[in-house]
Amino acid sequence: MTTISTLGSHCALQVLKGAKDEGFQTLLICEKKREKLYKRFSFIDELLLVDSFNDILESKCRSKLKELQSIIIPHGTLISQMSSSEIESIDIPIFGNKWILRWESDRNMKEKLMLESKLHVPKSLSNPSEINGLVIAKRHGAAGGKGYFLATNKEDYETKRDKLASQGLIKSDEDLYLQEYAFGVSAYLQYFYTPIHDKLEFFGVDRRYESDVDGIGRIPAQQQIDIDKIPSFNVIGNSPLVLRESLLDEVYSMGERFVDAAKRLVAPGMNGPFCLEGVYDENGKFTAFEFSSRIVAGTNLYVNGSPYSVFIYDEPMSMGRRIAREIKIANTKNQISKIVT
Ligand code: AMP
Repeated sequence: MTTISTLGSHCALQVLKGAKDEGFQTLLICEKKREKLYKRFSFIDELLLVDSFNDILESKCRSKLKELQSIIIPHGTLISQMSSSEIESIDIPIFGNKWILRWESDRNMKEKLMLESKLHVPKSLSNPSEINGLVIAKRHGAAGGKGYFLATNKEDYETKRDKLASQGLIKSDEDLYLQEYAFGVSAYLQYFYTPIHDKLEFFGVDRRYESDVDGIGRIPAQQQIDIDKIPSFNVIGNSPLVLRESLLDEVYSMGERFVDAAKRLVAPGMNGPFCLEGVYDENGKFTAFEFSSRIVAGTNLYVNGSPYSVFIYDEPMSMGRRIAREIKIANTKNQISKIVT
């Protein structure tokens, strides 16, 4: 019998609750410091206690996961705590496509896949001397917005870069990716693609609540100037959003183009959950500055289903449960190799 496993953080509760609802055994790879938290939930059958998540690369943990016929559900914590090579070396089946996670972590590969998907993407700058207008400097990997900053010219950029370097958040220019700032209202589009039925499902939308930038509007502009801190984009939580219905057709088209591009560039493609992240401008045009090639924490909003999942499923369907449903379908059709790597 398959055990659905994940790391204790990010969206672990949603994933394992969904797995239990679909009748699976569940296992949480849990740092000792979080044991008390996760022990509270009865749908977690087993805790595999570790000192650090990197322990899953060691033989003791791997044997346990293999013995229980685990499938690991990757999420943002796996990507932020391990290098792409480490993730690729894991010899336990990983749900979705573990090879595409490298494309998520590397900003240049990421841009290539988004352009191949014919998404409207903000221009990236190869050198700070090209800054001519508002840009955002972002760290590589799933940094969650920590240590990002805005700049309008080279001098402004250098001052802020040096400040972050003195805090140990970055070492040099190479740690930063420069992109034109996209104006509009943010929206994070959550999808699930099933290769078994070759079908894209749109699951929901969220917005991120990011500290400090989302709090800055509470401070009068006059006082903002006096604050001696670079406001960061660190994600604190998520809030729900529904889109104007007239935008939905393009939402599906963008998702389908992304799925097609991923099939061409990184086999076996974008299987399972993913998210396109960006802003809508005043004309309803979407600019995508980011994608996530695995479940995003914004889906935690919709543990009982979303305003979009109800149009596809006549039962409460979270993203975590949808993942477990896919594994169940693949098991019965003997097609598990199609949905894991
Ligand atoms: P990311 O790590 O790319 O998801 O970025 C974290 C946050 O920075 C996003 O949620 C946005 O608030 C902001 N952001 C990133 N890129 C851009 C951009 N090109 N234009 C405007 N805001 C951005």
